[in-house]
Amino acid sequence: MDLLNTLVEKGLRRESPTREEALAVLATSDDELLDVVAAAGKVRRQWFGRRVKLNYLVNLKSGLCPEDCSYCSQRLGSKADILKYTWLKPGEASEAAAAGIAGGAKRVCLVASGRGPTDRDVERVGRTIETIKEQNEGVEVCACLGLLSDGQAERLKSAGADAYNHNLNTSEATYGGITKTHTYADRVDTVQKAHAAGLSACSGLIAGMGEADEDLVDVVFALRELDSDSVPVNFLIPFEGTPLAKEWNLTPQRCLRILAMVRFVCPDVEVRIAGGREVHLRSMQPLALHIANSIFLGDYLTSEGQAGRADLDMIADAGFEVEGAGTTTLPAHRADALAAAGGGCGSHAPAGGGCGSEASAGCGGHTDAAAGGGCGPCGGHAEAPAAAPAAASASASEARTDLVAVRRRGAGTDLAPNA
Ligand code: SF4
Repeated sequence: MDLLNTLVEKGLRRESPTREEALAVLATSDDELLDVVAAAGKVRRQWFGRRVKLNYLVNLKSGLCPEDCSYCSQRLGSKADILKYTWLKPGEASEAAAAGIAGGAKRVCLVASGRGPTDRDVERVGRTIETIKEQNEGVEVCACLGLLSDGQAERLKSAGADAYNHNLNTSEATYGGITKTHTYADRVDTVQKAHAAGLSACSGLIAGMGEADEDLVDVVFALRELDSDSVPVNFLIPFEGTPLAKEWNLTPQRCLRILAMVRFVCPDVEVRIAGGREVHLRSMQPLALHIANSIFLGDYLTSEGQAGRADLDMIADAGFEVEGAGTTTLPAHRADALAAAGGGCGSHAPAGGGCGSEASAGCGGHTDAAAGGGCGPCGGHAEAPAAAPAAASASASEARTDLVAVRRRGAGTDLAPNA
């Protein structure tokens, strides 16, 4: 297929596809799906081999957010029966992080609900980062605290943060239908602040909120423009009690096409399958590893993932390997550029390098929406305006509420975490 050959050639050269080519990937037929995965796999292997980076979420502060992100179970007015608790102490957060690291994670993503941190919150998270790094040598830490004010990214960097996550989530055109309490421009500004402070930028999207193919392509091109080092792809988890509870628009096949489109547009960045992996890819998860080079291990912010052991078995069974702590995640040209910008590592510091640990991100402006998360990935939505009746209905899938489990273990509970 000429389209796929062209996309592979461009991906190997780090050249952007055209919008039309990106849209064409989303429009491929089921008969072409394995060819699409194989083509994206060639680009993935060029830049990341068969390595899979594991990231581990620690929800520092859960629920009771004043913002109204429609996909989010922690939003203002959410009726979702999630865990609600205030800031974990540094020692508690470090204990939770250690479980993920012991399970194979090389990056810990510290997430807190809320519009953005106060300066006191930044100090508090700074102490948490220091504690985690003292107790877990070589771990990368990403913070995800919402919108940043001037100087906060620099203070997080000084405290040892390697990365900052804040997701764009959807296109500029549809953003106002998803969230009213802040804007798309606010989100772009925070990603740029993180970048300017020398933090590795992690920013991604949420698919399945009723958006059109054009919106998905728009947001992925915007992420390429922002030069995000990590792109988490969340698949909306339509949480009961949120406005998007009825938005079951995704099929495993559509998720694979979306991941492939992201890989072709952002060929040399860490593409991470984030929230909603188990709910929407289901038994197709191993196939998605041929496209993405990164996943979250274990549970998400407010929902439970499959057992950490099952994640590790899936990676091994599919012929991939967990990326070790001493390996640089990003290709050399990106890692070098990040180091030159004063960045932590990009995923790991070259010998003699600045930090010795990598950075990537967990959520990002809260985006594990799909994961039931607050800011990262989530999943809900309905008031999305220009929703895409065509794209959404064409791929309508059965509501799999049976696969959505609210998190009842790990951080904020007395039960052991899943890792
Ligand atoms: S995504 Fe983040 S900012 Fe938005 S409602 Fe959820 S926790 Fe609050």
